[in-house]
Amino acid sequence: MDMELWWLVLPPLFFGMGWLAARIDIRQLLRETRKLPLAYYKGLNFLLNEEQDKAIAEFAEIIKSDPHSVDLNFALGSMFRRKGEHERAILIHQNLLARNDISAEQRLKGQYELALDFVKAGLFDRAEEMLQKLADSPYARTASQQLLDIYQLEKNWEKAIETANRLADGTASFQNEVAEFHCEMAQRDIANSQPEQARGNLEKALQIHRKCVRANMLLGDIAMAAGELDDAIEHWKRIENQDPQYLSLVGSRLMEAYKQAGRPAEGVQLLRTYLTSYPSLDIVDQVFQAISELDGLDTAKEFLYAELRRNASLLGLRSLVEVELHYVAAERRPDLEAVRNLLHEHTKKLAMYQCQQCGFRARQYYWHCPGCAGWESYLPKLGGGARVT
Ligand SMILES: [Zn+2]
Repeated sequence: MDMELWWLVLPPLFFGMGWLAARIDIRQLLRETRKLPLAYYKGLNFLLNEEQDKAIAEFAEIIKSDPHSVDLNFALGSMFRRKGEHERAILIHQNLLARNDISAEQRLKGQYELALDFVKAGLFDRAEEMLQKLADSPYARTASQQLLDIYQLEKNWEKAIETANRLADGTASFQNEVAEFHCEMAQRDIANSQPEQARGNLEKALQIHRKCVRANMLLGDIAMAAGELDDAIEHWKRIENQDPQYLSLVGSRLMEAYKQAGRPAEGVQLLRTYLTSYPSLDIVDQVFQAISELDGLDTAKEFLYAELRRNASLLGLRSLVEVELHYVAAERRPDLEAVRNLLHEHTKKLAMYQCQQCGFRARQYYWHCPGCAGWESYLPKLGGGARVT
């Protein structure tokens, strides 16, 4: 009888144990699945609030419990990169690529992400190698764009031209950029005392982009350095037909060439003609300097007053006060100096060139912005926009 009872107890016991085991598994599973989305959404929330450190901590926690989540690894990798923790980003992407359970698509993405890490870490050789491998993948175009940036940073203009030509299509011609790359090469040739090679590059720049002002500026510089004054003047004058607002950049050069050729009055006349068609404070300054040297300060002052009446501006007023300081009686001088100082203070920012893309200001004119790496993004005039009227 005892034996019979014992057999009766066994089935429910096994059933109970199985049920318990299943319950433990389900609980474990539920805990995991609940934990994943919660931490994930917390991380996402931090990310949206731009609290990157907290977001990274949350995502890193998820990866600890689920190291195989490829998407989370990608998310974490790109967050580390954005935060400037390049080594950690590189490590994550390298680990991903070392796995053999990721799809071909994920492998390509991993290669691209790793290349971006290398770019940000300044490891251009490794980035270049990685990006070149993506030439036949869906990442080909973005990889080429990254390569173009790298070649520009490395000043490897030959490869930059090759890459830009490959990227050129109906949506982007890269005409300006390629012409600028040729100008950069010409500038390098000039520094290496190879003016003929420089001329070749500049002619190419003009063939590619006939409005390339910089090419004519440099062709003029080469001619000037060789003492071919009329040739230099001819190149600089061509800028009027390319884009007259750039004339302000060659006004002083033109005046110098005319002076050396013994025809300074002709130079002043030319610049004054430009002024009537294309008002520019820089040219006003250049003409003012030339007239004071040629005809004396009185005539120059008259010219300045006339110009200021035509186009009133704070920078113009500043020049005028500078001139008046030469004439003012000793007892009035401190007052005028105070006005001059005040104007200087207010026009400090105006007397600079400014990038139209990123707002970077500089005392010298840049063809390639040091702030945003844009080409021809500076207006070729000082920020004399603050007019008196
Ligand atoms: Zn810029």
